[in-house]
Amino acid sequence: MNKLTNKSKLVSDKQMTLSEKLYLPAIFKGMIITFSHLFKKKVTIQYPEQTKEFAEIYRGKHVLKRDDEGRERCTACGLCALACPAEAITMIAAERKKGEEHLYREEKYAATYEINMLRCIFCGLCEEACPKEAIFLTKEIVPSSFERQDFIYGKDKLVESVDNRIDVSKRQTAEVLEFKKNKNFKHNK
Ligand code: SF4
Ligand code: SF4
Repeated sequence: MNKLTNKSKLVSDKQMTLSEKLYLPAIFKGMIITFSHLFKKKVTIQYPEQTKEFAEIYRGKHVLKRDDEGRERCTACGLCALACPAEAITMIAAERKKGEEHLYREEKYAATYEINMLRCIFCGLCEEACPKEAIFLTKEIVPSSFERQDFIYGKDKLVESVDNRIDVSKRQTAEVLEFKKNKNFKHNK
């Protein structure tokens, strides 16, 4: 018979032996593999009762940082949203008014800042792109929910509380800080 392509495969029509027809050897082989796992070290844990220790630089839920005086660091420049491969970040910028200097560090700030945690792949590119040391990923994990709306994290969930600062020093290595000071890179200006 002529072949139209060279992708065809030869299929064996070999008859099954008696033991193969009984399926018993295959069942026993499978049982041996299953039982052998009873004596091996478990690779799973009983989450949420048990949790694994996370690395210091685990990339979990984001935090929007405040500066030493408690002012929001984010200036709504949009670089994090631009860097985000999942298009998970949206924001609306606003201009700081007179008398709000104690709230926002720069003249422009994010009136709305949202991250869609269902889209986020926790790559950390937003953190890398931020020239203001405003956004960091933390060791905290995003809790599960049955409602999609619960995964839209706004400023209420992202901005750190003045009294409960989140330590991100482990993520700010000397190399990262040096890089962010380098004025040769446009986004550090
Ligand atoms: S961690 Fe990655 S995917 Fe998530 S918001 Fe930041 S840049 Fe986007
Ligand atoms: S890059 Fe930083 S300063 Fe700019 S909008 Fe994102 S978090 Fe705010």
